[in-house]
Amino acid sequence: MIIQLKGNIEAPAEQRILQTLESKKYKPMKVVTQDGAYIIAVGKAEIDIRKIGGLAGIKDIHRVSDAYKLVSKKWKIGNTKIDLGDGVTIGAGDFGIMAGPCSIESKEQIESSIQHLVKNNIKIMRGGVYKPRSSPYSFRGLGIDGLKTWYELARANGIKIITEVMMAEQIEEMLPYVDIFQVGARNSQNFNLLDALGKVDKPVMLKRGISGTMDELLQSAEYIFSNGNERILLCERGIRSYENAYRNTFDINAIAMLKEKTHLPVIADPSHGIGVRQFVDPIALAATMAGADGVIVEVHATPEKAFSDGQQTLDYQQAAHLFEKLRKTRALVNRL
Ligand code: PEP
Ligand code: MN
Repeated sequence: MIIQLKGNIEAPAEQRILQTLESKKYKPMKVVTQDGAYIIAVGKAEIDIRKIGGLAGIKDIHRVSDAYKLVSKKWKIGNTKIDLGDGVTIGAGDFGIMAGPCSIESKEQIESSIQHLVKNNIKIMRGGVYKPRSSPYSFRGLGIDGLKTWYELARANGIKIITEVMMAEQIEEMLPYVDIFQVGARNSQNFNLLDALGKVDKPVMLKRGISGTMDELLQSAEYIFSNGNERILLCERGIRSYENAYRNTFDINAIAMLKEKTHLPVIADPSHGIGVRQFVDPIALAATMAGADGVIVEVHATPEKAFSDGQQTLDYQQAAHLFEKLRKTRALVNRL
């Protein structure tokens, strides 16, 4: 059950609600976010929610039987829009394209990438400065200094930054330079990291785990929301299957299903989703047709020289074509 509290609720009214729930063997937990205050109550007893709904200080009350509550579509009117400022928004009808290299490599690479994005009217640049790599001997990112350089150049050109945070300890120093924190597939169930990201007021894009289920992804998002941060995007980036002809199996089903289960924006990552450059376009377009609120794609001036994930990275010309096709496909979806 989700109880939305009125903004001006007074302590005695809140106590009354908590006591009423406890008397019915429900376990209440208060959640305060940037946008509202809620009581989540978990319990098994049959109760008449109208009786609780009549108590002072309650704006609305909803029965949500799923394991995840606040990220469920069952209670919220409309979908969540992520507002990055300067007119850059994703979700609730607004389609977002994020593009850039897998890894941030150098000042020259950042400049070149920004130039390409500006030319193509893309407002959000992706890139890792802390890289999760299968081998400890691979390039692991430029770290905080790389992020600071990137931030200066991005801000000067009106570009927003999405980048991966790997540990709770990195959040504080990254915070001023990040517009969206990315949680990578390998950290999708790092609950301490999710708890910590719930306590900051910056959007978080949570990727699906390599073998994560829909429910696990949504419950991970619930960790962030229930700690106080409603600004969440979900990302389908392919799962591991028996198929080894490509890197991952992009789960198009997930896009359609998540759009039904949650009010959060759903982003498609076709680059990791298939892991083969040649097929990034059709997967990106299919995800858009399936209802994705945005796409995140890896782009590099010379993909064959990229420090990571070159095999799935588009060059500038290929990316510009894809952006065009995505815009046309989205316009088609809107018309259908
Ligand atoms: C990435 O975005 O470069 C990345 C490492 O993604 P994932 O966590 O999906 O593997
Ligand atoms: Mn990558």
